[in-house]
Parts: sequence; C-alpha cells; structure tokens
Amino acid sequence: MSDFVSDNLRRLRESVPEGVELVAVSKFHPAEALMQAYGAGQRIFGESRALELEAKASQLPEDIEWHFIGHLQTNKVRKVVAHASLIHSIDSERLLMAVDGEAVRAGRRIGVLLQLHVAEEETKFGFTPEELAAFVTPELVSSLKGVEIRGVMGMASNVDDDERIRADFRAIRSAFDSLKETVFASQPSFDIVSMGMSHDWPIAVEEGGNMIRVGTSIFGEREY
Ligand SMILES: *Cc1c(COP(=O)(O)O)cnc(C)c1O
Repeated sequence: MSDFVSDNLRRLRESVPEGVELVAVSKFHPAEALMQAYGAGQRIFGESRALELEAKASQLPEDIEWHFIGHLQTNKVRKVVAHASLIHSIDSERLLMAVDGEAVRAGRRIGVLLQLHVAEEETKFGFTPEELAAFVTPELVSSLKGVEIRGVMGMASNVDDDERIRADFRAIRSAFDSLKETVFASQPSFDIVSMGMSHDWPIAVEEGGNMIRVGTSIFGEREY
C-alpha cells in the first residue's frame, strides 16, 4: 500500500541517521493521516494541544507512544499526563512541579524534557541556558517523584541563516552537555536532545540532536 504520508515517511527514514528518534508531529491532522503513518510503522507521535491529544489517544491504537510538544498550561496537565509518555515542553518550575504532582497522583512515572529558549524570536517559552543551569540542582532532581528528566528540547531561530540556526542548536546541545557532566553524571537515562523540525532537522542532527520532531515533511501543510 502506498500513499502520500507513508511515502513521505519512508523517504524521511532513509535520510535520518541511525540513533536519531523520529517524532511524527501530527497536530491538526486527522486520525486517518496518523493511521497511514502507523501503517508505515510509525509509533511515536507528537501533539501540541491537550484536548487533541486526548481525543486522538482514545481513538487510535494503544501501542502508540504519545509525546506532548506544545506549551502546556497547568490546568491541562492532568489530561496530558494521562496519555503522554514524554513531555518535551517543560518551560517553568511551576509546570514541572504540576506534572510531577499529577504523575504521582496517577501512579505514573513520566519522562520530561526541559525546554530551552535560545532562538532570537519564535517562542518566548523556555529557560535560557543560564536559568537552566541555576534551576536544575541535585536537590531538585531528587525531589521529583513522578517525573524523570530525560533531557532537553529546543527550537532554533526561524530564519534563513543556516549559521544562526546552527549556533542555536549548538547552544541547546551545550546546555545538555553541561547538565550531563554534572547533575546527571550518574543518570544514563538523561540522554535526549530533542531539536530539529521539517526545515532544519539535518542541521540539528549534525549538531548533536538525537530526537527530531517532524510534521510538515510527513503530513503536508497544516490547516489551522
Ligand atoms: C509543530 C511543531 C513541530 C513540527 O514542525 P514542522 O515544521 O511541521 O516539522 C516541531 N516542534 C514543535 C515544538 C512544534 O510545535
């Protein structure tokens, strides 16, 4: 069987190096499109809105691994914790604590990534590298009961200048390395660097990303 989505996915997989995890960003696309990707073997999907995640998770196969990649308000945390195995977008202490509390309440242990803010414009969400270094202490990590910090996530500036994009990804990777060498030195599961989208993932991978979040190149343009 061949269709638009599975052809795109197959082509993409041929160019993504081994060791790089592909998150298929399915936000705003209907369940049928996800099922085409599923049929082509894709199991990790990324969603950015809590209600959409909930609706899709209840309707699609149970072996899908849902990642939450959008800005998350604390009043939506419960819905996301119920379905997601990894939340990429922890952008404040308040949110981290809310996710931890809900995960404990739900009897789950959920992976999270700390979102870095390095880009010139785009999203204003996330920690600067300096804020992150100050925030993530051994005391913080040992206080978490429901979440496990698995790594970092970030976006590059939305510009045409490849060198600027490269510098942003380098800054994200560097913030990861600093934590890996210190607070997480004895935690092998701190191993995810989520960076790179449809237009810039090859640069992200060159700069040390090992998880890419690709939507448009798989599913086509979104209709908001
Ligand atoms: C939408 C989104 C993506 C995917 O972007 P594409 O350009 O469609 O590949 C990746 N990461 C985040 C955080 C997003 O919100």
